[in-house]
Amino acid sequence: MDFYGMTFKALEEYFELRGENKAKAKILFKSIYRENLKIEDITELSDRTKRLIKENFSFTLPIETTVQDDGTTVKALLSFSDGDKVETVIMKHDYGAGLCVSTQVGCSMGCSFCQSGKLKRRRNLTAGEMTAQVLFMRQYCEIKHISIMGIGEPLDNFENLKDFIEILSCPYGLAFGGKNITLSTCGLIPQIERLSEINCQFNLAVSLHAPTDELRSQIMPINKKYGVAELIEAVKEYSGNYGKRIAFEYILLDGINDSTENAVQLAELIKGINCYVNLIPYNETENSEFKRSKNADIFFDTLKKSGVNAIFRREFGTGIKAACGQLSAEYD
Ligand code: SF4
Repeated sequence: MDFYGMTFKALEEYFELRGENKAKAKILFKSIYRENLKIEDITELSDRTKRLIKENFSFTLPIETTVQDDGTTVKALLSFSDGDKVETVIMKHDYGAGLCVSTQVGCSMGCSFCQSGKLKRRRNLTAGEMTAQVLFMRQYCEIKHISIMGIGEPLDNFENLKDFIEILSCPYGLAFGGKNITLSTCGLIPQIERLSEINCQFNLAVSLHAPTDELRSQIMPINKKYGVAELIEAVKEYSGNYGKRIAFEYILLDGINDSTENAVQLAELIKGINCYVNLIPYNETENSEFKRSKNADIFFDTLKKSGVNAIFRREFGTGIKAACGQLSAEYD
């Protein structure tokens, strides 16, 4: 069994089933996740228990294939035991470092502006492989915030995501509070409706990127299944139920979704929701069909004048292709 994929509750049950004291789960979570100890160095456990753990659990971290560091961004290409690879990125903000975690090898959502979407989904990452990204990357710096918005659509891997967030937020282990976890989705409505199953009040970011069905379906195929109006309703409900402020992600693509009219439509669409808009400058890549918007400032001003709380996302790692929409991890 992969230790890093086990929730605290599952570990307690594991010990109980073997007639062992379930308090060992707490000792293990604290020693492994907080104190970064090896099993043989945990003084609170007997030799017999250490043997049991070593015989029954694996503690495998991914292998780092390449690492690029431009001073504010660290991007690592990590390879798992079956050879599948993902990229994961640290962004060093003034207020602490954030880690962007991948959830799938490739992504089948096919958003046309995203490099990750150009790789067909090969498989879901396990909860342990997501946790392992955090454990691996914390060797570079202390991580204060986790964004679940790397390669893959997190809600397309719901059960593993649920376990990962439980492990991440467990107070005996990594202990990330909900306000320090942000989950991003392109809008899988049935799974948004299931978010209450996850026992953590994290932040929700919704990749909206267009204010009308016509435009959104053009750049995000998922919109043909779950349209804008339905998505806004689901998000409103989530925000209302948990008192959470929603982040709407909006990547500005030249001549596609960046007109002043689009800004007015967006303001109208999200009126009354406790939210803000995160405007993302497009990062051009060699094979990209889109260009960076020239109307970004006017778009921003129009939102502001319409009473929308909007910010420009700070750009990280563009030079090392670690920025939004640039993660790819070619695996063939
Ligand atoms: S933006 Fe997200 S959901 Fe869309 S293709 Fe890229 S990784 Fe997948």
